[in-house]
Amino acid sequence: MISDPDCIFCKIVKGDLPADIVYEDDDLLAFKDINPVSKVHVLVIPKRHVSSLNALDDPELAGKLMLAVPKVAHKMGVGDGYRSIINTDSSVGQTVFHLHIHILGGRKLSWP
Ligand code: AMP
Ligand code: ZN
Repeated sequence: MISDPDCIFCKIVKGDLPADIVYEDDDLLAFKDINPVSKVHVLVIPKRHVSSLNALDDPELAGKLMLAVPKVAHKMGVGDGYRSIINTDSSVGQTVFHLHIHILGGRKLSWP
């Protein structure tokens, strides 16, 4: 498993940092965002360290990540309506450089 010792999400994967985990399988982890911006705000991540969407080069892992999103949204009670977001680069707000898909739901969201 590719892991970055300085990455906070890798630390969560290893169990070195606590998280409120809502879904786990061999390749993926989903946990509640520590600073939620909606009633439901969870992050779906690959267990393997991938720094951003631009660094994702594994189609199978990409598919697993994408297919986990509706599953996790359903589990969190927002399966009928949610927003999934990937920030890529600090210029658009990426602050943690381990790929994660935000799932937001549980309130009305404006766009963009
Ligand atoms: P982004 O700004 O897209 O990189 O999203 C990073 C997200 O990670 C933010 O919404 C943070 O609130 C969240 N976050 C940072 N540290 C933790 C942590 N230890 N546990 C859970 N969520 C975290
Ligand atoms: Zn990482």
